[in-house]
Amino acid sequence: MIPLDEAQARIARDISTLPAADVPLAEARGLVLAENIFSVEAIPPFANTAMDGFAVRSSDTAGASAQRPISVPVVATVAAGAVAPRPLAAGEAMRIMTGAPIPDGADAVIMVELTEPDGDNVLLKAEVASGNHIRPAGDDLEKGTLIFGPGEVLSPAHLGVCASVGKEFVSVHRRPRVGVFSTGDELMVGPTPLGPGQIRDSNRPSLLALVEEAGAIPVNLGLLRDDEKEIEDALRAAVGPDATNPVDALITSGGVSMGDFDFVKQVLSRLGDLNWMQVAIKPAKPLAFGMLMGTPIFGLPGNPVSSMVSFELFARPSLLTMMGRSDTARPTVAAIADEPMLRPPDGKTHFARVVAMPEPDGAWRVRYAGGQGSHQLTAMARANALAVLPDGSGVQTGERVQVMLLD
Ligand code: AMP
Ligand code: MG
Repeated sequence: MIPLDEAQARIARDISTLPAADVPLAEARGLVLAENIFSVEAIPPFANTAMDGFAVRSSDTAGASAQRPISVPVVATVAAGAVAPRPLAAGEAMRIMTGAPIPDGADAVIMVELTEPDGDNVLLKAEVASGNHIRPAGDDLEKGTLIFGPGEVLSPAHLGVCASVGKEFVSVHRRPRVGVFSTGDELMVGPTPLGPGQIRDSNRPSLLALVEEAGAIPVNLGLLRDDEKEIEDALRAAVGPDATNPVDALITSGGVSMGDFDFVKQVLSRLGDLNWMQVAIKPAKPLAFGMLMGTPIFGLPGNPVSSMVSFELFARPSLLTMMGRSDTARPTVAAIADEPMLRPPDGKTHFARVVAMPEPDGAWRVRYAGGQGSHQLTAMARANALAVLPDGSGVQTGERVQVMLLD
């Protein structure tokens, strides 16, 4: 067996970030920027009002109060998107709407709530200081500022900032296309009653969804029989010079353990440069990883929980690296066990499927999400975290345990 971090390091050595490509803003959320973004103008581009109200000269409001309002003529109205027809003169007001440019000659805005209509005039009921409710040009960004650079992960707000400086496309590391197939003669799909010895393929939907959740593009390569030719044909269709449905990475599940019909193992050994690992973890001990005609391939174990945990520990960080992410690990927090989480010493790190709950005081508590067998997928469905139990005898109620948060 090899330690988990060594298996992860072996994989990381072979994974590289995909080249950058221009994508529309609407498709860029979560992707990693590969260019510098500068503000070509000041943002906001002109001084404007933060309030609906009246543009005035602050000196004209001196001494104004609710008891002693000052009446001034309203000489124009400035809507957002318009400009004042002429400069504001002393002793005048212009009605102005949020976002409209401040008229020349005005140095303050008095909000509408502090005024009252007075025929063609307006009553100013408060004194305002110079600059009141004015958002100066460049208040958010000066012209020529370097706003974001390579490595920045694009959030919804980042996309808004990019749009505000005129970008319609951004150069980002593209999403990998990730092929997923299942193997096994026992597997079937859909509502048809199960025949003797049959089970339904649950790994493919889970893995395709995990790929999508990681931000990559899932490519469903189907369910393959335990047949060397069928497996080889599927692999050749996905990678290599004659690929008809090319992918940037491949994920298989099943067929990588020690069984007589583990043909994935046999085909991959023949076609690719694969590393067969027994990783010191439970679940998900067997793992195949390597390059198949230049494409990374993850041969995950067949048991449903194992394939998902294996994806979390090995495939997900790799897909994130391909997308240019440097933060590839799930967040971990220290939690208090609400029940004993015992395990025998066996040289492995155990990953228990748990429900982690934050307490009002910020502490986390964990309990089992259900049965801990590697075939018991419902516990995985109920879990929101994996508790990391290092080799040893586990933890008692009230003891601390590290948990890896999955959502
Ligand atoms: P294998 O690694 O092919 O020996 O499979 C190990 C276990 O996982 C067996 O019980 C398989 O039936 C089960 N298994 C393999 N692939 C899948 C799948 N796609 N969906 C559900 N169970 C699977
Ligand atoms: Mg099998």
